This record gives sequence, structure tokens and C-alpha cells, in this order.
Amino acid sequence: MVLHKFDFAEPRSLEEVHALLGEHGDDAKLMAGGTALMLFMRQKLVQPAVIVSLRHVPGLHTVEALDGGVRIGALVTHRRAELDPLVQQRFPALRDTLRHVATIRIRNMGTLGGNLAHADPAQDPPAMLIALGASVRLAGPNGVRTVPLDEFFTGYYETVLEPGEVLTHIDIPGPRGDFRQAWSKFLPRSVDDYATVAVGVGLTLAPDGQRVADVRIGIGSAGETPIRARAAEDVLRGQLLTDDVLRAAGEAAAAECDPLTDVRGSAEYKREMVKVWVRRTIRKAVEATGGGRPA
Ligand SMILES: Cc1cc2nc3c(=O)[nH]c(=O)nc-3n(C[C@H](O)[C@H](O)[C@H](O)COP(=O)(O)OP(=O)(O)OC[C@H]3O[C@@H](n4cnc5c(N)ncnc54)[C@H](O)[C@@H]3O)c2cc1C
Repeated sequence: MVLHKFDFAEPRSLEEVHALLGEHGDDAKLMAGGTALMLFMRQKLVQPAVIVSLRHVPGLHTVEALDGGVRIGALVTHRRAELDPLVQQRFPALRDTLRHVATIRIRNMGTLGGNLAHADPAQDPPAMLIALGASVRLAGPNGVRTVPLDEFFTGYYETVLEPGEVLTHIDIPGPRGDFRQAWSKFLPRSVDDYATVAVGVGLTLAPDGQRVADVRIGIGSAGETPIRARAAEDVLRGQLLTDDVLRAAGEAAAAECDPLTDVRGSAEYKREMVKVWVRRTIRKAVEATGGGRPA
């Protein structure tokens, strides 16, 4: 399909990006890896007069240690993050998540910043990053703000990003205490498909090694946005992980999600799968060994 004509700008600094966005307003669109944007342009869902590439903006391409956690530049591709030693060591569940995004070809192009800004509720990284307590840094012409990821998504393909703002970094705090993490992607169709339901869990066990001190659960493909399953978390906090408690957490998560019927399953089916996969992913997190836990 033929694309419309557009100008392609390659700014060399964030200031230049802001100047271009200020000058062209709604006629401009940011581009990172372009994997989602080009599809939308081919389908004529967006037709920007100017594409502002972020590729040559310095400071957005690295993964750095951050107080026991990591700071990931928005332009870091899925594949680079997946192979990064810090990510592998501190957040093995995020590594697992990234390994199951699309195909290596897409992962070599698509960036984490582009993934979050695109805000497709069926994407994988948002749910796991919510479970890990991540936040995003947004740089606008008048300053930088930090937004917890569980407050970033506002609707179907919508975020709190204001016109002129650029998502620059994703910060994941360091795991504290006896931290466990796990990811599950249920995709019955093909291995490179989007999830029918995806669940990320970040869980801290109490010093007794039995009770849940704290927990965060992120769910993808279960509503108009990636969601944080707060009711399920409330069921779990302070509890022993018995079968009854796990079942109750799964049911709470199913009640607070609002899946859309699509080719990957009906809303009712996805709700049932949320029950199952929340339960299983908590178990998987508690049984996980290795990275993300204190040495
Ligand atoms: C065939 C295919 C299969 C896929 N399968 C999966 C899958 O299984 N799981 C999954 O999670 N995802 C999947 N995806 C989605 C993929 O992860 C996203 O397309 C990709 O992450 C988007 O990143 P990008 O860098 O290419 O963004 P772009 O396409 O460059 O941009 C996407 C949107 O974000 C905006 N944007 C980009 N960067 C920024 C920024 N730093 N600040 C503000 N706005 C920004 C752009 O203006 C645009 O609106 C698939 C995509 C394709 C094409």
C-alpha cells in the first residue's frame, strides 16, 4: 500500500525534538522503531505531515544500573533489553517477557519506549513492568515528570503523554527483600502472536518465607488498557499462599478486568483465563529461583 507524502526530521537533541513538535503540533508524529507507526500509516489511521525520528537523540539508547534496579532508555529495542546482563540478572521475568514479544525481527526494531507510548492493551511489556513497579520519565518543553506506569495508560491506545512530551526512560526499582517475579503469556494460536491473556507478578515474601509481604500484578489483554490487579493484590497481602487464597486472588483479578472479545477469545473466555493464569503465575513466581532474589 502506498504511503502518503511526509517530511522526515532527524533531530540531534531533545531540544530540537521539542522545537519540531512545537512548530508542527498535531501534524507531527514521533517515531522510534517505526514498527507500530508504519502499520498505522499504511492503514491510514494516522497521516502525519512530519515524522520526527528519535533515533539520533543522545541519551535514550542505554540500560544503566539504578539503585539496584535499572533505567532503560526509551530507544532501547526489545532485543537489546532482552540480552542485557543487568536485565537478565535483576529482572529475569522481564527478560522472559521480552523473549516472547513477536519475532526477533520485530524485537530488533521495536523499542520499549515505543511499546509503552503505543499503548496497545494486548502488548506484553506493560503488564510485566507494572508488576515490577516501573515508572516512566516524560520530557516536555517545560520540564520532566515521572509517572508510575500503572497511572500511564488512560484508555484504548491512550496515555497521559501530553502534546510535545517524549517518553525518555523507564525506571525499574531494585528488588527488596525476598523478591520473586514471574511472567506468563497464554497464546493458543502461534508463538509470535499477541497474548490471549498475559500476567506479570512481582511478589515479596515476608521474613517467614511463607506469607506475602507485598505483591503487584499486571495483566495484559484484559481490558482497554494494561491493568494492575489491585483487588487481587489485596487478597494476597499478609496471607499464606494456600490453594484457597490463590483461587480467591484469581477470582478477584477476573472480576476487576474487562476484556474485549476479539480473534484471541471472547470476553468470558479471557476472564476465565485470567483466573487460571493469575493463580499459576503467582505460583511460578514463588517457585522461581535465581535473579531478582538476594544472593
Ligand atoms: C507483526 C507484529 C507483531 C507484534 N507482536 C507483539 C507481541 O507479541 N507483543 C507485544 O508486546 N508487542 C507486539 N508488537 C508490537 C510491538 O511491540 C510494537 O510495535 C513496538 O514495541 C513499538 O515500538 P516502536 O519503537 O516500533 O514504536 P513506533 O512505531 O516508532 O511508535 C509507536 C507509537 O509510539 C509513539 N512513540 C514512540 N516512541 C516514543 C517516545 N519515546 N515518546 C513518546 N512517543 C513515542 C509514536 O509516535 C507512535 O505513536 C508487534 C508488532 C508487530 C508489527
